[in-house]
Amino acid sequence: MTDKYAVIGNPIAHSKSPQIHKMFAEQTGQDISYEAILAPPDGFAATVERLRKAGYKGCNVTVPFKFEAFKLANDVSNEVIDAIDSGDKADAVNTLDFRNYKIASYNTDGIGLVNDIEQNLKVSLKNKRILLIGAGGAAAGVLHPLLEASQSPLVIYNRTLKKATSLKKTVEQHDKFRLFSIKAVEFGGLRDEQFDVIINATSAGLTDSEIPLPATIFAPSALAYDMMYGRETPFMKFAREHGASVVADGLGMLVEQAAESFRIWRGIRPDTAPVIAALRNQ
Ligand code: NDP
Repeated sequence: MTDKYAVIGNPIAHSKSPQIHKMFAEQTGQDISYEAILAPPDGFAATVERLRKAGYKGCNVTVPFKFEAFKLANDVSNEVIDAIDSGDKADAVNTLDFRNYKIASYNTDGIGLVNDIEQNLKVSLKNKRILLIGAGGAAAGVLHPLLEASQSPLVIYNRTLKKATSLKKTVEQHDKFRLFSIKAVEFGGLRDEQFDVIINATSAGLTDSEIPLPATIFAPSALAYDMMYGRETPFMKFAREHGASVVADGLGMLVEQAAESFRIWRGIRPDTAPVIAALRNQ
């Protein structure tokens, strides 16, 4: 029997996830279906319940429901599985697993980002100075895996200082990250620092808004990474013009995080390279 999965979001029509999971299923011979489901802003929990009752095995969660998904999973199940990143550190999750009559939750965004940077782009994060721009759900989800990979100080740079400070505080609650210095800086507050890896985890690109960055921010050989995909953002353009040696969009991350969700559900990890290549050629 075909096992059913879905991605829940609002908006959702633009999502590439159904296409990605279809390619994964074909490649691995798994009998699954995967659809995009639009939930009303106040209807996330009801949508999850409907899917569970209809026998779905799991789902992905996207904007704006990632924080709600974390709460829901923790309300329904006390037994949060920590296979990758259960989301207990991020408070935001993108993958739910409905097996065993519980809801297990995971955040695969972080591992997706790290895999894309280290394996696909061949840029090691170890000991790199990282600037993480943004303090929303995406930034929260990738912060811990970035610190694990870099083992270095990190700066969170956000338009609203309060959100950056609050994200910094949640990280510092975890013993293993106390060793690293994490700074929260408001837009306009960066001076002479340079960074090896600058990641744009804001949605500024959606409205073609510029991120205020000093012209000298990119260290030699720096990577500029925008989590958005589909077009060149003002951040990517700025990076190209101001010395970043690698400039990447978030398509690879999208496919890598999907591969980790697929692995959680199906126990098999698809090969991501042909899927990234197929999407790039569209
Ligand atoms: P949230 O709404 O949770 O957070 C938005 C963030 O963007 C906040 O830090 C906000 O700053 C900032 N922001 C929004 N508009 C502007 C602007 N005009 N100028 C400067 N900063 C702005 O969104 P998410 O964190 O969930 O998503 C962020 C982006 O990451 C989206 O574009 C999403 O598509 C992408 N993403 C990509 C993934 C991938 O796999 N490639 C996975 C997950 C996300 P403030 O706090 O001041 O409001």
